Amino acid sequence: MTRVRFAPSPTGHLHVGGARTAIFNWLFAHHAGGTFIIRVEDTDQARSTRESEQMVLDDLRWLGLQWDEGPDVGGPHQPYRQSERTEIYGRVTRELIERGVAYRCYCAEEELEAKRKQAEVEGRPPHYDLKCWHNRRNDADVSHAVRFHVPDDGDVEIDDLIRGKVAWKKESLGDFIVGRSDGLPTYNFTVVVDDHDMEITHVIRAEEHLTNTHRQVLIYRAMGWRVPEFAHVSLILGQDRSKLSKRHGATSVSQYAEDGFLADAMLNYLALLGWSSPDGAEIFSRDEAIAKFSLDRVNAAPAVFDPQKLDWLNGQYIHRMSAAELRPLVARFFDAPWLEEGIDVLKTSVTRLTQFGEALRFVRDYEAPEVERPFAEALANELRENGTPGTADEYKAMVERLKTSTGLKGKTLFMPLRLAISGSEHGPELVRMIPLLKHASEADASVLSPLQRAERCIR
Ligand code: GLU
Repeated sequence: MTRVRFAPSPTGHLHVGGARTAIFNWLFAHHAGGTFIIRVEDTDQARSTRESEQMVLDDLRWLGLQWDEGPDVGGPHQPYRQSERTEIYGRVTRELIERGVAYRCYCAEEELEAKRKQAEVEGRPPHYDLKCWHNRRNDADVSHAVRFHVPDDGDVEIDDLIRGKVAWKKESLGDFIVGRSDGLPTYNFTVVVDDHDMEITHVIRAEEHLTNTHRQVLIYRAMGWRVPEFAHVSLILGQDRSKLSKRHGATSVSQYAEDGFLADAMLNYLALLGWSSPDGAEIFSRDEAIAKFSLDRVNAAPAVFDPQKLDWLNGQYIHRMSAAELRPLVARFFDAPWLEEGIDVLKTSVTRLTQFGEALRFVRDYEAPEVERPFAEALANELRENGTPGTADEYKAMVERLKTSTGLKGKTLFMPLRLAISGSEHGPELVRMIPLLKHASEADASVLSPLQRAERCIR
């Protein structure tokens, strides 16, 4: 049974890098018919807050990444918040000490710091000098940290599912802390205890944790636990090839939601950061992505975040959706009784949900422009006598009559018509705009009808 987890440290909104890691885990779990778990890594009490946790979970929900086990939904291995698992960590720490693979270290921080400096001066690796390992004693009442002892057979090699073979020599590690003197366990320790306890089969996470894997595998071995498979996903870079950061624009998922991106488009785009579909498809549904996803198509090289491509993709999603589907999503930013028709008129010309409000401004905001008085009079007469077109056919008939009554045609007809109706030289096609304004003015008292507009131009 495949079991994977996404393990956010709740220190703010979910970033695109974390979102991509979560998406890969979610796709991998669903592809295998397995279980997707959220574990909140909140042992850094100074930086972790419940509000942040809520934000991260909300961001994951917005992306549509439902989880099977987690802090809010519970599950067979609860609790799923590390701050609530201290008893388990205490039990495993004592077991490591009893097994003789970890020991209490009474060295003061200043002493350790001085030794690290000295090692640096002498060009030696800053490893712990094993003082408390050689003088092992078991005085639990005196303030102490707990250190893991790197064994003689401490070389480690893993077969990373994305990066292939990665090996570390035991000499590259010194005895490392698993429990701090303030009683808090360290990340490398809790992550192993939890991944074991939660029966995680595949650890899919950011490349920055690759170097931690050496320590983590040693802990698995010392406890006699099965080592999971690892898959370390590469960094996301900005277009200048430096690590993606605020300098490159929005980095939090919630900001993209605020900026009018669709969750489906975001998920589609982030899935493409490092993964490619075997058939080369760039636009795919969730179910298609689940069916096609595999870690062997995840690239070991860094992925470059391309905001233009995301914009394009979001536009593709908007164009393919119906106005009825888009309406509730657009209404978050802009609402009107005639919104659905407005969306239908404009959806092929926007790339973000937020752009509908701006593109539909002409419906409610109208200032009479300069048009020739005879034209304005002819237009007003036409609309008064024959009514305002509510369909494309009625619009075409109106244009024919206007050609006759004004003697104008082509651009000399359409430009003043557009100006008089919308107040601007730009906007959607007249054949869609005029019926929209007719219907909108019938449904919304704040909208001037085409006839009222034409009359305002008579000055
Ligand atoms: N909590 C870690 C982070 O947010 C993830 C640890 C892991 O996936 O092993 O970077």
